[in-house]
Amino acid sequence: MTKMSRYGIDLYATLEAETGLATGWKQCGSITLARTPERMTLLQRTIAAARSFGIEAEFITPAEAQKMWPMMRIDDLVGAVWLPGDGKANPTDLTQSLAKGARNRGARIFEGVQITGTIIEHGRIVGVETDRGTVRCETFLNCAGQWARDLGKLSGVNIPLHSAEHFYLVTKEIEGVHTDLPVLRDPDGYIYYKEEVGGLVMGGFEPVAKPWGMDGIPPKFEFQLLPDNMDQFQVLLDEAVHRTPVLETTEIKLFLNGPESFTPDGNFILGEAPEVRGYFVAAGFNSAGIANAGGAGKLIAEWIVGGAAPADLLDVDIRRFAPFNSNMSWLKDRTVEALGLHYAMRWPRHELESGRPLRRSPLYDRLQAKGACFGSKLGWERVSWFALPGQTPEPQYGFGRPNWLDACIEEQLAVRKDVVIFDQTSFGKLMVQGRDAAQLLQRICANDIAVAPGNMVYTALLNARGGFESDLTVMRLEADCFLIITGSAQPYRDIGHIKRHIRENEHVTVTDVTSGYCTLTVTGRKRSSCCRA
Ligand SMILES: Cc1cc2nc3c(=O)[nH]c(=O)nc-3n(C[C@H](O)[C@H](O)[C@H](O)COP(=O)(O)OP(=O)(O)OC[C@H]3O[C@@H](n4cnc5c(N)ncnc54)[C@H](O)[C@@H]3O)c2cc1C
Repeated sequence: MTKMSRYGIDLYATLEAETGLATGWKQCGSITLARTPERMTLLQRTIAAARSFGIEAEFITPAEAQKMWPMMRIDDLVGAVWLPGDGKANPTDLTQSLAKGARNRGARIFEGVQITGTIIEHGRIVGVETDRGTVRCETFLNCAGQWARDLGKLSGVNIPLHSAEHFYLVTKEIEGVHTDLPVLRDPDGYIYYKEEVGGLVMGGFEPVAKPWGMDGIPPKFEFQLLPDNMDQFQVLLDEAVHRTPVLETTEIKLFLNGPESFTPDGNFILGEAPEVRGYFVAAGFNSAGIANAGGAGKLIAEWIVGGAAPADLLDVDIRRFAPFNSNMSWLKDRTVEALGLHYAMRWPRHELESGRPLRRSPLYDRLQAKGACFGSKLGWERVSWFALPGQTPEPQYGFGRPNWLDACIEEQLAVRKDVVIFDQTSFGKLMVQGRDAAQLLQRICANDIAVAPGNMVYTALLNARGGFESDLTVMRLEADCFLIITGSAQPYRDIGHIKRHIRENEHVTVTDVTSGYCTLTVTGRKRSSCCRA
């Protein structure tokens, strides 16, 4: 992702030379503030990762930050990070420049055309219906922003994103604000600032968001705004007045409330949809679509041309989602939390709280009664650890020794010395059946799965480049029937991968039977004697 952002910055800085149209890119640098030692630690970790990609970054004191950004109050700050290579672009100019660059290289752009349907043959998209007629295609890219979910539905493609109200204000000119003023981010106050025509743009990511568009986004809503919502904006305004007291007496030129789409985990959605071949998606940009457009555009182009993700893109891969992620009521609940993730403290092993519990093992209540602290994976509640006597089963987030460590050590020792049972019901379960099931699995699994019925094989699912797609156990139930147990996060990814390898003349079906079976794992040093007894 860091490489991707860097590519975007380089593109915005150099595109004018290619197209003759300015992008409005201004390398003014950025300052990110830390109000707490924990935020400083988080910034240090981010910066260490960024530096490993050659990005210049420097830790600065609050006083040094104030020298570059004089209007800000610093008495509550621990420190800051200065990124000299960062900057800001003008969205309108940037869009025009990107469009011109595309046209120069042969792209044709038709505006005001609405896609009303898709044509799918043998599981592959071969065309689209529009209000101006049919267009045949080999590849289709759904980059319809907040409309992408509904557009996906027309083809049975699952694109979980939901709009939320999103705000910024623009002030009149302020003394001391100039075009070279760095972008300022104050994540502990949920806010950011940048210069615009001598005044400030101030926006933010409030921790409790207001979802919008529950009944669908009106088709002709582009270029429209929502009514002011001062109740929702107030938390950002209070923080802004705290950080920049000058705002108390500055005239506000514009309050802007525009909907933007957010995804359940705060990462955007990229890649080929598992449901339909040739159907690609680039959407759900969580209010970073301008910053990420260049990099995400390059990645999806390489994905389309190369036929596979050009890098490890698991965090943004569309196949990380399940159908339930598009349930409107769940999605709405999650969006309340998702918008704030942009500036939230992302602790190690941080668990999101909204829309839970959703999928539960039949043993859930019993595990809970035993002091289980649950985490969530693809909607499943899974035991992360069991509280020790006197301990509350709740995580205490931090960067030091975690409060679950002793409990986990005890569990580990039990495995080494004794016998334990793990409830792994969340594991994905896929039934692969049909005349050619064995032939197909033999082709895509690394291990030899041609075992006699009643046996099982632990194996890797590989792609055409020899890369690792999944880590699974294949049980041969009958000659033409296999039960695959895969990771909790993997079933939709694996189904897509397996289905894609069924040849035209092969007869195989793949069914997700995850909810139909529990998985209990008996393991530990004394497992054999336990099972014999
Ligand atoms: C208040 C606010 C502040 C923001 N600030 C920033 C910021 O500082 N930095 C940043 O990087 N990002 C910011 N963003 C987010 C950024 O604007 C978006 O992420 C970005 O515009 C999304 O681009 P997109 O191309 O994915 O979607 P869009 O720009 O929404 O484009 C989707 C297009 O698809 C078209 N479409 C939809 N359905 C169909 C159909 N059926 N047929 C044909 N066409 C269709 C729509 O008409 C639209 O033109 C902000 C957003 C808001 C609301």
